[in-house]
Parts: sequence; C-alpha cells; structure tokens
Amino acid sequence: MRRYRCGKIVSTIGPASSDPEKLEGLFLRGVDVFRLNFSHGAHEGHAKVYESIRAIGKKYNCHPTILADMQGPKLRVGTFENDRIILETGDVFRFDLDPTPGNTRRVNLPHPEILEALHAGTTLLLDDGKLRFEVTECGNDFANVKVLVGGPLSNRKGVNVPHVKLNIPALTEKDLKDLNFALDLGVDWIACSFVQTPEDVENAKKIINGRAGIVSKLEKPLAIEALEPIVEVSDAIMVARGDLGVEMNPEEVPPIQRRIINTCHRMGRPIIVATQMLESMISSPSPTRAEISDIATAVYCGADATMLSAESASGQYPYEAVSIMSKTVEHVETDPFCARRVEDDEQVPQRTTIDAICTAAKDAAEYSCASAIVLFTEKFESVVRCTRLRPRVPVILVTESPALASKSGLCYGIYAVCEKTFENKNFDTSVMTKVAKDLAKTHKFAKDGDTIVMLNDLQGHSIEICQL
Ligand code: PEP
Repeated sequence: MRRYRCGKIVSTIGPASSDPEKLEGLFLRGVDVFRLNFSHGAHEGHAKVYESIRAIGKKYNCHPTILADMQGPKLRVGTFENDRIILETGDVFRFDLDPTPGNTRRVNLPHPEILEALHAGTTLLLDDGKLRFEVTECGNDFANVKVLVGGPLSNRKGVNVPHVKLNIPALTEKDLKDLNFALDLGVDWIACSFVQTPEDVENAKKIINGRAGIVSKLEKPLAIEALEPIVEVSDAIMVARGDLGVEMNPEEVPPIQRRIINTCHRMGRPIIVATQMLESMISSPSPTRAEISDIATAVYCGADATMLSAESASGQYPYEAVSIMSKTVEHVETDPFCARRVEDDEQVPQRTTIDAICTAAKDAAEYSCASAIVLFTEKFESVVRCTRLRPRVPVILVTESPALASKSGLCYGIYAVCEKTFENKNFDTSVMTKVAKDLAKTHKFAKDGDTIVMLNDLQGHSIEICQL
C-alpha cells in the first residue's frame, strides 16, 4: 500500500483490533507493522491474527510486517490474604520466598535472583513505580525494606529493580515456547524484552538462527549503560518508554530517547519509539496537543517508526489513533527543517562499497529531483545502509524474497515489491533501468517525465539516473 510518508507505524494488536475486518481497517488507515504482544493472548489467537495479516498482504499485493513481542522476565510479587493492603510511607515491610499469601507485614517475592542481587540501600519499585522501597537488610531468602512512597498494593503487582544486574535470562521458559511458535508462524521480527546485556541478545540470536530479525527493547538503565554493544548485536531497537520511565526518572527519558535514536542512525539499525504516544486516545477520539508533539519529536529526531500500544490493542478508538498518527508523521515530514535536522545527525558513511553506492544514490536523487530510488537487493543489510542515510524520497525495494520484503517494512521510507524480475539473471543495466521505471510507474511513485534513481546491489554495484 502506497503511503505518503517515510516513517512507519507499528500497531499493537489486541481485543480491540484482532478481528480480520479490524486488522484490514487498521492497515488501510496506515499500519505498516503489526505487533503481536505475547504478554497477552493464547497461541491460537495469535495464529489467527497472523493468518489474517498475511491474507491482507495477498489481497492488496503488499507485505505488511509482523513483529512478535516476547513478554520477557516480568517480575511480580505474590498474593495477599485479602487481595490488597495499604502501605504508609515510613512503614517497614518484608519480601520473602514464603509462598503463603501476604499481609501488611510481608509478601512473597518468588524470584530468588532478585533477593540474591539486593544489598542495603537498593531501591525496589512496585506497581509501575507507584510504590518505592529501600532495602535495609537482606539475605538469600528475604529483604527487609523501608517504605519510601506508600500506597495500595494488590496481588501480583510488577516489581522493578533499577540499576541492578539480575541473573535472569532475557528469555524465560514461556518466551522460548512463544518464540518457537512465532518463528514457526513465520513472523518477521522477534522483540526481546528487558534486555540487560549484549549477551542477552546474542543468546536470543542463537535460538532465532536467522529466521527473523531481533528487536532489542531498551527498558532498563543497564541496557542504556551498554547501549552501543547492544545496538551492535541487534537488528533493530525499540525505545520502550513504559518500563524505561519506571526505572529512570521521567525527565531522563527524552534525552535517552534522543541518544538511542542517534546511536541507531550512526550504527545503521532501525529504531522504534514506543509507548503512550497517544495514551489519551485509549478513551478519547481526539489526542492531546502534547501527544501530537511527542510523535512529531520522534519524527524530527529521525525514528524509523512510532508505535501504538493499548491505543490500538484495547482502546476505544484504534482507527482514529492510527489515522492521527499517520497524518502527524506525514505532515511533519513535509517540513524542510525535518529533513535537515535528521541529516545533521552523525551519519558518516563507512568505507564500504555499499555505503559508497547508497550515498551516491541519495545525492543523485536529491540533485536530480528524483521521485524515488529503486533499490534492487536481496540483502537486509543493504536496505538498512540505504535508509539509514534518510534519503528525502521513498525507496522502492525490489526483491525476490517475500521474507525480505515484509521484514524491510519496518525501515524508514521502504516500499517493498516482491517480484522475479530478471529472467536468467540478466542484470544488464538497460534491462534493470526498464524494470525500475516500470515498477516506479505501476506503483505510482513516478509518472512520465519524472526522474528516478536505480540502485543495483544484485550484480556488482551501480547507480543510474533515469527519466521516465
Ligand atoms: C514498554 O515498556 O514501553 C514496552 C513497550 O513494553 P511492554 O508494552 O511489552 O511492557
């Protein structure tokens, strides 16, 4: 589906959006990447959604991207005798390994790895950071704490331990089952939650074994401390601002978002900005001005994609949220300041042939006022090197691989066409330019008289500026 913007929209699927008609409605309104959230829902439901999305691809002759997001090691307290307690600031309280229901003095914390990693002075956060505790004394099976910020605490609320390295793998047993299920379905991307180190990513990569790309979700301060090594081993990155905003002070998140985006630009990894982008639209048909400004900031900074979570998964206005996000991205991209701003970031090309040719194609497109770049490649790396430079025109990716076509849908400005284009591998330049011109015209990126740039990454490397 031809979009009139380069930035992509990721939409989380849930009860508000999982019917086939709803999925099609979201797609028609602008969704490029569908996120299956394995923190919720059963395999059967995810499989149905997967099939419906692939059917939409067939119907519209395009390649929607599918991302399976793993829950990761979500840490929770146990239950309470009366389901809920109230803790006052200054109270003393205890977390332990005893599985019996808790009370106002103690509760089960069924994660020995947390208790092992604590020491006096460590901060524990509960219920998305609403309650705050300081460890006063601890052992291998307990932690006594002082309540720094009190409030109600109910069964199975989430626990965060910022700045402490926990000896917990990023993929739990549940994740491993979900991961294999998602890979068997044929998803394009796997998102790994609560990545702490590059080794977490490497371990996941070994299991995925090239069957999908890996998105590392950055949601822990430790991951930010290891930003470059994590980006290096990942195929894409998500700024997971929900948990990041719990584990860090909220005012620290915007500069970190900026830093992550810049690092991804420099290193050539697609970057998604996620969470609460249109939060008020969960229950309201129109957004706040601040939310629109938040999307605009992500676009100005050069994110590849912006993401909807509950807005499209369980909110009352999923269509409106997608439409507004799409309109905002499209409009902000028309601001000349937007392109300049993104270019000002460090995007020094590497001394490689692919960077040489991508830089040449970008410049050629700009100075010849081309309407599109047509990129012939079978390599995801080449797609990324090309879009990393943020050419000001769309990039029509032409590939024989449906998997490459749908995976690349996450990347800024990529419109994928999957065709067996070259009979007998005849990569003669005149044949390639003819195919490029035909495709640009058929897919409505160019009309007679327009210029396009053809980038050949199939046999050697070359570019050609051609007029329709
Ligand atoms: C987040 O924390 O911002 C996030 C995207 O993670 P999840 O929604 O999976 O908890």
